[in-house]
Amino acid sequence: MTKKFYAKVDEATCKGCGICVHICETKGGKNLKNGLKRTLLGGTLPEGADKCTGCRWCERYCPDFAIKVEEVTPVA
Ligand code: SF4
Ligand code: SF4
Repeated sequence: MTKKFYAKVDEATCKGCGICVHICETKGGKNLKNGLKRTLLGGTLPEGADKCTGCRWCERYCPDFAIKVEEVTPVA
């Protein structure tokens, strides 16, 4: 079975700098986009599109450790 992943953004610590969105695109991912919601600091909250490959580049590059990539556990 193919593994599925989900990039979870902590809305309380994400400042909305867009680095994760940029790095996701740069590394060939098609998951993170700029969302419609604003962060507490007035940045743009990133949004996942259910196309996360689990490469974890976004997690490595986030300066605030505000994004975590988790494996989705299939519902039995
Ligand atoms: S890199 Fe981190 S702080 Fe910046 S938008 Fe992404 S999750 Fe938020
Ligand atoms: S793990 Fe990879 S594909 Fe998933 S959101 Fe992060 S950079 Fe994009």
